[in-house]
Amino acid sequence: MTGQAIDSRESLSRLNDAARRLQREVRYMEVCGTHTVNAFRSGLHSLMPPNVTLLSGPGCPVCVTSQGDIDQLIELSLQSGVIMCTYGDMIRVTGQRGSLEEARALGADVRIVYSALDAVRLAAAEPRRQVIFAGVGFETTAPATAVAILEADRLALMNFTVFVSHKLIIPAMQALLKSEVNIDGFVCPGHVSVVIGSDAFRPIVEQYWLSCVITGFEGPQIAAALARLCELTLSGQAALENLYPQAVTSTGNQHAWKLIEQVFTPANVHWRGLSELPGSGLEIRGRYARFNARVRYELAAADNREPPGCRCGEVITGRCTPADCKLFGTVCTPIQPIGPCMVSSEGTCQAWFKYRPRNRAQSPTPIRSAV
Ligand code: SF4
Repeated sequence: MTGQAIDSRESLSRLNDAARRLQREVRYMEVCGTHTVNAFRSGLHSLMPPNVTLLSGPGCPVCVTSQGDIDQLIELSLQSGVIMCTYGDMIRVTGQRGSLEEARALGADVRIVYSALDAVRLAAAEPRRQVIFAGVGFETTAPATAVAILEADRLALMNFTVFVSHKLIIPAMQALLKSEVNIDGFVCPGHVSVVIGSDAFRPIVEQYWLSCVITGFEGPQIAAALARLCELTLSGQAALENLYPQAVTSTGNQHAWKLIEQVFTPANVHWRGLSELPGSGLEIRGRYARFNARVRYELAAADNREPPGCRCGEVITGRCTPADCKLFGTVCTPIQPIGPCMVSSEGTCQAWFKYRPRNRAQSPTPIRSAV
């Protein structure tokens, strides 16, 4: 398929046709926060055949950030003289001692930035303050963090550090496939694929015999990917297909990768819901260690226990739905969120709360019964 406009009716018709002929339940998973939101916002879940379930995987950057990282960011923000810079969604995620928003109410200087370079500029303008940037997100945001560190190096800034919590999507997908969660194929993320390239998903197809279909962000594009996945399942094939060729190449963005490799090295990191995964994150190389907030502030290993009652870790690994969480929609709402999946605009719990009809509390094909 090329970058032509997608006919949603045709995709849904193909999806329904393949699903009907399959005559069994199938579960596909997207691993992209934008897919999570847009699948709900477009009404796609309501239009899907009853035997097809689209699970939301670990694709929301805020949601996968470990509880320990959240706590350490809050702890750092409360240190004297520190300016904590973060992307917007992180500010309301709660740790054991409240959120960055609550830390701000206690006097912490927490600022929302729109790019990592904004934090570097702030450090240059405030030489008496220590500026810490919260580097969160997948391969999409890591190059921008790398650029910020290189710029801080060029400016010889001594008051800029990064708390790196960047994650790599392929190790998380592989960890899911080794777990008890039953998945029939992946709807692969468009924007991460722009950086890592379609070939990065080949090990999933070849080692786990599971189809990976890369697609764009809109409902019709997600519907097209689901139709293709269902057709592949029906034909007994495992294939890697790129339905987003206008943006995704086989090898990805080499310039972005070079920046990542120049500044970072792979690291074992903790994921919410997946525990510690080898080589699944990034840490700053020794050459740039002076910009590493974990080194500068001598941070010890953190406690990764999730908030009591919150099942975000299970939600983002397809082991339960938000409706299975007793706090959903009562104690935990977008106005007063408990876990990151309700905080983040890309979180599964927030998407369920906003877009699922209230009289359909449960999934039409409950995920629990299918796993
Ligand atoms: Fe966590 Fe709230 Fe989602 Fe429950 S509804 S899993 S408490 S974010």
